[in-house]
Amino acid sequence: MKTFVNTEQLQEVVAKAARVVTVSHLNPDGDALGSVTAMFHFLRSAGKEVTIVLEKAAVPHNFRWLVPQEAAVACDDSPEAVTAAFESADVVIFMDLNGIVRTGDVQESYQAVAAHRPDLKKVLVDHHLNPCRDEFDIIFSDTEVSSTCELAYSVISGLAESIGAPEKLPVNVAEALLTGILTDTNNFSNSLFPSTYQTVMRLQELGADRDTVYTRVFCDYSVSRMRLMGHLLRDGLHIIPNLGVAYMTLSLEEKKQYDFRKGDSEGFVNLPLAISDVRMSALFTQDEDFIRVSVRSKGDLDVNTFCRRYCNGGGHFNASGGRLYIPIGEVGAYFEKSVAEYLK
Ligand code: 5GP
Ligand code: MN
Repeated sequence: MKTFVNTEQLQEVVAKAARVVTVSHLNPDGDALGSVTAMFHFLRSAGKEVTIVLEKAAVPHNFRWLVPQEAAVACDDSPEAVTAAFESADVVIFMDLNGIVRTGDVQESYQAVAAHRPDLKKVLVDHHLNPCRDEFDIIFSDTEVSSTCELAYSVISGLAESIGAPEKLPVNVAEALLTGILTDTNNFSNSLFPSTYQTVMRLQELGADRDTVYTRVFCDYSVSRMRLMGHLLRDGLHIIPNLGVAYMTLSLEEKKQYDFRKGDSEGFVNLPLAISDVRMSALFTQDEDFIRVSVRSKGDLDVNTFCRRYCNGGGHFNASGGRLYIPIGEVGAYFEKSVAEYLK
């Protein structure tokens, strides 16, 4: 579904703005970090003062090259700096999320500022289902794109001329956008639209090098991450007979044993979909206070509804996530019961 709001409205708001904050969802992935970074470099090139607000200062190791540290402030590092960024902003651009709640700890600072700043403009650029429309003034929402980065390419291109940005988009903008497209399509294996190839072509023409971005993002893992993948596939993979559903759990103990770093489980949930009879796959990862849920499906099986109904989450039709607040030992039984009910 497309909800393209008048680009002119955005042009007017951004043209007038001196200070902009870009922010994305908690536990940011390549699309989240790519889109806020691309918007940062782009608006900077047009002379705006831009701050990237993060929930946590530490980003996954394979995206460290992407995020300009000097322009980022994080809640776990300096909540005062986050509040100050919102206080002084004219516009906040939310990217790759469908509701403010997805910003995690950022929402507290943001809501406190927004409550006494009715003039603060809120823009959304996103590709998830079910956007919370009431929370934003200007919405760019399109679920028929590969990624927020793909959508951001058209938003940025539409803005460039009117706000006095350089005629040709800077290469760091193109590289950041390509990052999100590569990661959200799982290196061109899903969520591909004709517009995706067209956008990638444009980004390559602007100087973004696919091989460089690919190597930085997908070839920066440790040996222990590889061994953890082997362990999960050999000893931790459950297949629910007759339903075509696979799942794996990753406990705190296993994380410790395999020297787990943030981002190490990226892509694991997709692996069981390579089995011919498997049409839905879930990965449950134990965190300190909750279980992180990641679900993928093939074809016409809707995991967004599944995650909204059973896992306190949501996302896309074939790729969603959420959280469970039960002991890791109970996850298997809970999931098997839920999925049997859901697919009945
Ligand atoms: P992943 O499995 O890669 O963490 O997330 C897959 C998709 O589901 C992403 O688009 C992500 O934004 C969404 N998602 C992940 N976790 C949550 C959650 O807790 N709540 C909601 N609403 N969406 C989520
Ligand atoms: Mn995304």
